[in-house]
Amino acid sequence: MRVHILSIFPDMFPGPLSAGIMARAQRSGLVEIHVHNPRDFATDRHRSVDDAPFGGGPGMVMRPEPLFEAVESLSLPAGSPVLLMSPQGRLFTQRDAERLSRAEMLVLICGRYEGVDDRVATHLTTEEVSVGDYVLTGGELPALTIVDAVVRLLPGALGHGEEALPDDSHTSGLLQYPQYTRPSEYRGWGVPEVLLSGNHQQIAKWRRRAALLKTLERRPDLLRTASLSADDRAYLRGLGWTEA
Ligand code: SAM
Repeated sequence: MRVHILSIFPDMFPGPLSAGIMARAQRSGLVEIHVHNPRDFATDRHRSVDDAPFGGGPGMVMRPEPLFEAVESLSLPAGSPVLLMSPQGRLFTQRDAERLSRAEMLVLICGRYEGVDDRVATHLTTEEVSVGDYVLTGGELPALTIVDAVVRLLPGALGHGEEALPDDSHTSGLLQYPQYTRPSEYRGWGVPEVLLSGNHQQIAKWRRRAALLKTLERRPDLLRTASLSADDRAYLRGLGWTEA
């Protein structure tokens, strides 16, 4: 996969992208990540990437030309996702990460200032995505979030950790069950006995039920779309869950 990020702050990327699984995925050639500065595509004397908003008002708006020129310089395969980071976009989810992980090339555009000229959203990008209902100073952290969520799903990126993927929160449609490690007792707090039993069938049953319970307590909305067996439903009903 090849990822192209457009940002007027390219220095924000090397740190997060040079540690852990992100670094390994790049070293092993699973992903190439290129950061382009729209300023390099500005044609005016001052290489300006922003201007005052038409109609007046505070702040500056990112101009369309450098962003169009930058994306058009990439010779993207037809149908490549071109994402605009925006608090006005659709909330980014694990399903999006799964879909984008199958793309050959991916473009992420980071806004700054008061936002981006709307013709970019309308005529250049394929989707506008938000990482949450809050406003950040720029699209760089959202872009890093999306790249991280996508790259860890590339086959081979997690190594042995890949076996854990189906149990991840949101992948299974539920939140993950609680996890514990050594010591089995810490400050008088133990861990569920069943996890020390070596009985894998019992452990799997405990984990499934713990995941259902946690999801019911914290994110009951997820139960509407999760894939639930008759046994799951019976267990949830016993906890007071009512199917909408
Ligand atoms: N005035 C804009 C608004 O109210 O919609 C917010 C602009 S924000 C200060 C600057 C840039 O940060 C945005 O253009 C976008 O690229 C990025 N950004 C801020 N919050 C974001 C979020 N929750 N998700 C994705 N991108 C975000």
